[in-house]
Amino acid sequence: MVLAPNGRNMRTVHIVESGPPEEVLEIRDRPRPDPGPGEVRLEVRACALQHADVFARTGHPEIEDEFPKRPGTEMAGVVDEVGDAVDGWSPGDRVNVYHHVSCGACEFCERGEQTMCPHDRKFGSDFPGGLAEYVAVPAANLEPVPEHVDMETAAAWPSSFTTAWRMLVSGGGSNRASRR
Ligand SMILES: [Zn+2]
Repeated sequence: MVLAPNGRNMRTVHIVESGPPEEVLEIRDRPRPDPGPGEVRLEVRACALQHADVFARTGHPEIEDEFPKRPGTEMAGVVDEVGDAVDGWSPGDRVNVYHHVSCGACEFCERGEQTMCPHDRKFGSDFPGGLAEYVAVPAANLEPVPEHVDMETAAAWPSSFTTAWRMLVSGGGSNRASRR
């Protein structure tokens, strides 16, 4: 066990090598992360697994794998601590996390096509994912979760919803005006 400087550890799930889940997933003790500037620490309440998490374990056809890694592309939880230079979020806020971290400066980002950003990175693949008790994430990626939405639903919607939105609205041009 690695003890955190503040004495507070957390449990995580790591993939230690490529293979079937019953053989390669390992529960580990890791230091609880402190939020950096522009970040919050999230107490994870639910984590959704998607195909990127399967690729993380079985190997992506286009990406060379490095192990160990922590999967969990999408997550929802409660803000636990707020880092410097973060406005609008407080401990106790219910949130989910948009899983793409884009550069914000390229031509695609500037026209709102963040998923096309060549510098795009994702939790669970490029950053440690949500299969942990706590995760430090950019505050810019948070969305509020209303009280009537449970955490499992909140964790599951970002990829599915934004994929459908891109297909129907960005790609297909569907909107209220075009249906009239
Ligand atoms: Zn970009």
